[in-house]
Amino acid sequence: MMKIGLALGIDIGGTFTKFGFVDKEGNIFEEASLPTNAKDGVDVFLVRLYETIDRALVGLKDHAELKGIGIGVPNGNYYKGTVEYPPNLAWGAITPLAALLRQQYDVPTFLTNDANAAALGEMKFGIAKTMKDFVLITLGTGLGSGIVVNGKLVYGADGFAGELGHVNVNPNGRLCGCGKKGCLETYASATGIKRTVSKLMADMTVESDLRDIPYNQLTGNMITEAALQGDKIALAAFEYTGRILGLKLADTVAHLSPEAIILFGGLTKAGAWLFDPIQKHMEENLFPIFKNKVKLLTSGLEGKNSAVLGASALFWHELEKETM
Ligand SMILES: [Zn+2]
Repeated sequence: MMKIGLALGIDIGGTFTKFGFVDKEGNIFEEASLPTNAKDGVDVFLVRLYETIDRALVGLKDHAELKGIGIGVPNGNYYKGTVEYPPNLAWGAITPLAALLRQQYDVPTFLTNDANAAALGEMKFGIAKTMKDFVLITLGTGLGSGIVVNGKLVYGADGFAGELGHVNVNPNGRLCGCGKKGCLETYASATGIKRTVSKLMADMTVESDLRDIPYNQLTGNMITEAALQGDKIALAAFEYTGRILGLKLADTVAHLSPEAIILFGGLTKAGAWLFDPIQKHMEENLFPIFKNKVKLLTSGLEGKNSAVLGASALFWHELEKETM
C-alpha cells in the first residue's frame, strides 16, 4: 500500500504550541496542542513536545510517512534554522531548533517566523493560491507580516525581512515593546487598538460599554464586538487604526507593487469597519500609478488551523523549490 506523505507543521506561540500532520493538499490528519509554558527552558519544552508528537504519530504510522517538518516561531531565522532572542520565551539567546528536530525525527526541517509561515500557508492553501506578489499582515498581539515577491517569500540578507510591525508611524509616538517609539504595531494590532480605545475614552465624552471594562481585561475581540454593535468609541478606534495602517500600507505598495494585501487575525472580524478606512487612506496616499489596483483581502484560512497549515506549507514550499 502506498503511504501518504505528510509534513509536520508546528506553530510555537507564547501561550500554546500547536502542531498537525498535513498532506500536500492541506488536509490535516492528526493535530494536537500543548501549553508552551514560556518560562520553561527549551530542553524541558522539547521533551514535552516530542512526547506529544510521538503520541500523535502512533495512529499514523501504518498508512503515512513523515516527509519533513516546518516550524513557525517568533524570531525564527530561516537561513540558520535558529530561534534568536525570542521576545516571549525563556529560551536564551540562540536555539538551533531546526537541527534539534532534524536529529529527533531524521527528516528535513525548516523554520521561519510565524507571519512568514502564514503567508506561505495562504499561498499554498488559502486565498493567494494564484498570486505571485502579495503581502500578508497578521493583526494579533503585535503586527506581523510576510512578503511574497515573484512566488517566493522574501527573507532578506539575514532571514528577518518583512518586519512591518516596526516601521515608523511617528518618531515621538507610542513606546513599543522593541524599545523604539511610534512603531506601526503600537497602533495597528489588538494591543494597539486597545491603547487607542483608552485614549479615545479620555478624549471623547460619548457613552460606551467599553468604559465599564478594566484596561487589563479589555481585548481586541471585545472592541470588535462593540464596533459591530455600533459603539462610537469602538468605531472611532477602528477608523483611527485603519487610517494609520492604510497610510503605511501605501508605503508598502510603493516598495513592492503587490497584487493584494491580505489581512489576518481577530480584528478582521470587524469587516467593513476596519477595511473601509484602510482602503480609503491607502488609496489617498498611493502614488498615482498604483491607485485602484491593489486588492485588500481577508485571509482564506480564517477558522481553519491556519498556523499549522502555514508551518507545514513551509516544508511543502521548500520541496517544490527543490524539484523546480
Ligand atoms: Zn517596535
